[in-house]
Amino acid sequence: MNISFSDAHEAFREEVQAFLNASLTDELRTAQRFCPGMFLDYEHNIRWHKILFEKGWIAPSWPKQYGGTGWDLTQKYIWSTETTLAGAPSLAPMGLGMCGPMLIGFGSEEQQQTYLPRILSGEDYWCQGYSEPGSGSDLASLKLRAESDGEHFRLNGSKIWTTHAHFANRMFCLVRTSNSGKPQEGITFLLLDMNTPGITVEPILFASGTHEVNQVFFEDARIPKTNVVGQVHQGWTVAKYLLEFERGGGGSAAHQTALTRIRQLANQQREGGQTLLDDADFKRKLDAADVQLQGIQYTEFRIMAALSKGQKPGPESSIMKNFGADIGQRLTELAIEAMGFYIAPDQPQARAAGQNVPAIGTADGVAVFPRYFNLRASSIAGGTNEVQKNIVAKLVLGL
Ligand SMILES: Cc1cc2nc3c(=O)[nH]c(=O)nc-3n(C[C@H](O)[C@H](O)[C@H](O)COP(=O)(O)OP(=O)(O)OC[C@H]3O[C@@H](n4cnc5c(N)ncnc54)[C@H](O)[C@@H]3O)c2cc1C
Repeated sequence: MNISFSDAHEAFREEVQAFLNASLTDELRTAQRFCPGMFLDYEHNIRWHKILFEKGWIAPSWPKQYGGTGWDLTQKYIWSTETTLAGAPSLAPMGLGMCGPMLIGFGSEEQQQTYLPRILSGEDYWCQGYSEPGSGSDLASLKLRAESDGEHFRLNGSKIWTTHAHFANRMFCLVRTSNSGKPQEGITFLLLDMNTPGITVEPILFASGTHEVNQVFFEDARIPKTNVVGQVHQGWTVAKYLLEFERGGGGSAAHQTALTRIRQLANQQREGGQTLLDDADFKRKLDAADVQLQGIQYTEFRIMAALSKGQKPGPESSIMKNFGADIGQRLTELAIEAMGFYIAPDQPQARAAGQNVPAIGTADGVAVFPRYFNLRASSIAGGTNEVQKNIVAKLVLGL
């Protein structure tokens, strides 16, 4: 298999690298490097978003007529790899990666014209209201009531685990508009303004102390019926379509960067002049992670090749979702081991971008412990590993 890139693609890589060198500030790089969680904070996220918007490179995966870059698949791959290697902030996926593609597929012309430009510019920041207390894997059992009230729906109930709802001014969500028939048949897909009276957001803190997710409460919140995407009671089709964009993506470049940092952490001398890299057992674990990562990278190449021939990733994206979650967690475990006793001090001030508080131990270590805790969630968020395995068993292996 020849996986080298053409001269034109290598020229594109140089153009991307030059742009990243010119526009990535130290503060943006630091914010990403010491990001303790699964999602970067809003402030740095949106600052990078606006730089990319001005350059016209904010939505590589969107069709060109809606504001995409018109890049081919290899260019997109080069872009995502180079931005990761350069330490660029990772952008929140809820607007660009989920709501936008969903609206392109299912939104009315008016909805597309209203919301797509605001996603591109960063004016709107979205959150995803799918899960509820008691309805996660079994999403179709959701209960948030939306009762007809003239030209509006009146919403009562709650959403939970809502990432960045405390920053978002918009939510796309699933509501129950009917209890008859199969549970999937009474669900409606709704867009809403988070500043609507009757909506409140309560924080849920992670074990590491970071605030990324929330519970959102609805008490007689009135949402215009014009905000329905698709047809009333038929939101399940829209919801499933959106999930295809949420899952997938092994993100091998990000994991490769994490592996390199672990090697650096493990290469520091300890008492007696030895390093952890001299330890055969630790080295074996690192090499095993490296092999697993190469497997992910080649699977990414295979998926790219299939997409370039017009095929869809389909349920195979569930395989990548699991691989990505597994290796991410494995790497945080190895990072903990590499840190040794320096893992003990909690140093939130030393990880804040723009600070001058010196780190206890190595600077790269200050985000290791919270990241270890926070990445436990990656095998749950976006659909649990077990549920992805069920999808693979049924739809990929035909069991
Ligand atoms: C960090 C984080 C961010 C999130 N962000 C959002 C968000 O922004 N918006 C949103 O809507 N949701 C969000 N979620 C919610 C997430 O989608 C759900 O947590 C997830 O779908 C699992 O649902 P649950 O928590 O109700 O667990 P449950 O569905 O109750 O699962 C509990 C356990 O049972 C297992 N299980 C359940 N069903 C099966 C089955 N059929 N076969 C085998 N095993 C099964 C699961 O694998 C799991 O181990 C987020 C979650 C996390 C952790």
